[in-house]
Formats: sequence, structure tokens, C-alpha cells
Amino acid sequence: MALKRDKHDSIFSELVRERANWCCESCGRDFSTNHASLHCSHINGRRHTSTRWHPLNALAHCVGCHRRLGEEPIQFTRHAEYEYGVMTVEQVARAALHPMKIKPWQKEEMYQHYKQELARIKALRITGMLGRIEFAAPDWYQQGITLRMGEAT
Ligand SMILES: [Zn+2]
Repeated sequence: MALKRDKHDSIFSELVRERANWCCESCGRDFSTNHASLHCSHINGRRHTSTRWHPLNALAHCVGCHRRLGEEPIQFTRHAEYEYGVMTVEQVARAALHPMKIKPWQKEEMYQHYKQELARIKALRITGMLGRIEFAAPDWYQQGITLRMGEAT
């Protein structure tokens, strides 16, 4: 039941993995010379439109960790809570339950924004910066998520 990936998913996936400096955020192995074996792993699945491209709804996981954590949802949640904090994971999960209509022009704007964020992080890598480098969602998207984080379930 895999959802089709579009260019928005591709740029988001690359950003999530570049953010992690191409290391698995579970086992720590380096995939900088083997990009295809590092995945963008969603905490709340991509069918949730509101959180599909949110920075705090994904982690970079190698094929093995992605499969293992996919089969062990409680471990996946614990791991996400360790990375982002219990409150954030709970809030993003709440936002995921409240759909967001994203207009085509907004999607295009998000794509351009994420392309710029990717270029910004890559430029920092060239200066020798290691470790995780955060990226931000477009303002309107972050505001929509923040609103939904506070909604009752
Ligand atoms: Zn791994």
C-alpha cells in the first residue's frame, strides 16, 4: 500500500537525510557513500497529509533499522521520543490526526523553500560542520501544524 512519492517527498527525504549528515539516527552507521540504503522514516505515516512534510515527523534510518522499527511500533515511538521529546512526539501525532488542505501553489512554495534549506545545509557541510543541522518548514505550514498540535483529539 505504498503511497506514490512525488517531488515534494523526494526533496523532503533528501533534507531529512542531509540533516542527519547521512548517518542512521538509530544505529549511527554512516551512509554518506551509500545514499540509497538510508531512508527517510516517517513517525506518523505519509497518509497523514498534515504532517507528511514536517521536519519533526521524520528521522533518517538505514534499511535495517527502518524495517526493525517498522515492525516494532512501541520501540519506534520510544526512539522518536528519545530524539524529539515525549511532548513533541505527542503533539505531532495529534497534528497528524487533523488533515490540512495544502493548495498546489503552497506545495510548490514548500518545494522551493525546502530546496533552499537543502542548499543552506549543504553549504554548511562544505565549511566542515558535522552532526545534525536542523531545517525549518515554511512559516504557513509550521503555523498550521502548531494550530493542529493544540487541537483536541
Ligand atoms: Zn540503522
